[in-house]
Amino acid sequence: MNRPRLIAFEVTRRCRFNCRHCRANAGTAGSEEELSTEQCKRILSSIAKFNKCVIILTGGEPTERDDVYELIRHGRAVFCHNLILLTRL
Ligand code: SF4
Repeated sequence: MNRPRLIAFEVTRRCRFNCRHCRANAGTAGSEEELSTEQCKRILSSIAKFNKCVIILTGGEPTERDDVYELIRHGRAVFCHNLILLTRL
């Protein structure tokens, strides 16, 4: 089975911008279905167990999450630093 070399994990739909071209349909309202910190960490750990690929934290704007640095720390630990934060900031 071919394993992915790169996975983009959309950790939020929140974004302070409202670009017409936004592929993620992001906006200031966000979503009530946004995953918790622990849910995101569990997903990152599960992906890493399956495949130590490059992981991209994206959204929306991932820095809108208060826990973004915690997710980065966890992601860097389980993915052996193969983590990219994709942000407009
Ligand atoms: S996520 Fe990117 S493209 Fe979408 S609204 Fe925000 S800045 Fe614009």
